Amino acid sequence: MSAFRSRRGCVSQRMVAVGRLGAHGKMGRGKRTGMESIYFVICYLCHRTCVHCYEDRFRPYHGEDLAAVIAQSRETAPRVIANLPERLSYLDWDTLDAQGRPTEHRGRIILAGGEVLLDAVREPVLYPAIRQLQEKYRHQGGVDILVQTTGDVLTEKILDELLALGVRSLSIAGLDAYHKGLDTPEAQERLRSKLLGWFVSRGMMPSPEDPKQMAAGGHQGRQYFHFFGATPDSWIGPLWPRGRALQNELSVASMGDNFCNRWSGGLGFLDYRNAGSEVSIEPDGNVYPCCLKTKLPLGNVAAEALEAILQRHVGNPVYEAISMGHPERMGIAHGWSVERFLQNSMTTLPSGKPYRNLCVGCDRFHEEVLGAMSSDLVSISMG
Ligand code: SF4
Ligand code: SF4
Repeated sequence: MSAFRSRRGCVSQRMVAVGRLGAHGKMGRGKRTGMESIYFVICYLCHRTCVHCYEDRFRPYHGEDLAAVIAQSRETAPRVIANLPERLSYLDWDTLDAQGRPTEHRGRIILAGGEVLLDAVREPVLYPAIRQLQEKYRHQGGVDILVQTTGDVLTEKILDELLALGVRSLSIAGLDAYHKGLDTPEAQERLRSKLLGWFVSRGMMPSPEDPKQMAAGGHQGRQYFHFFGATPDSWIGPLWPRGRALQNELSVASMGDNFCNRWSGGLGFLDYRNAGSEVSIEPDGNVYPCCLKTKLPLGNVAAEALEAILQRHVGNPVYEAISMGHPERMGIAHGWSVERFLQNSMTTLPSGKPYRNLCVGCDRFHEEVLGAMSSDLVSISMG
């Protein structure tokens, strides 16, 4: 899940010919912008099976299974990166230049797992992906690459390698009560203080909350760190109704927790090229409007350009509702009134307890309505 949030002050300005608009700072002019943020899960392999994890496939693999997940990532990641936008930047309509044009900022890509620093993933998949991204965007305004890790497999040698590869920020995501071995405040503090010493000794700075500052720091070559975890007070505290979190009945998200209307949710995903846009990509190249992942992907970035996939969904009432942060309205054009959607947002947990969240309704709608259509029909008939 993306460690970065924004206000997502979505200015729906897709109608503007953004490709011709001016640039900001050191960026060039006259180029098409792409997306503010891409959350790219590069491999399913993890050294843990945390009870709160949103994805069952994040777990240890062995033997042929391990070879298969690594082979998938090695084969797919280069094709995904090749199909990302030519330029990874976004327009900020809250900050206009002297001519009244939106300013352009460099975008970012978060490389995550699973655990991407494990030996089986790091050198065969992660490092080549970072090099390919740096090369792709070298003459296109650059890109800010963030690497997300639990933190406990990081060594000083790996840290130095990541910094030398130009990683913009390291996000330490395992500081919570669910990660075995880090599940006490003392254990979390031990890890935090060890890593902090390494980071500070290398001139790294705490990551700015405002993504625009991160983008500006990218131009200046700054490198950052960030700590977070699924603590009750955090933005992911209620836990997404997904994977082991749902099966283990750990999600306390209510109907008031509209994950769609937040960063990492679907909000603004179709407003690509503008501030607040983000999609998530899986190791097989499938792309989703949110990190929680809809039951059906939007398309596959290993096979097709990301912009082509997104553009195909613009104007489609299902995906426009998601992009507006109103998932309860996604089915109206298909006879799923808001009331029906809310009824279908109810499910039963393994213990028999009822559970209700908008993402459950979204799953049902995808299974019952969109799943019955071919992908072409989903894309074209509702446009
Ligand atoms: S929560 Fe993170 S560390 Fe735990 S199983 Fe999931 S991906 Fe792995
Ligand atoms: S409602 Fe659907 S699109 Fe929105 S965050 Fe949940 S799963 Fe993603």
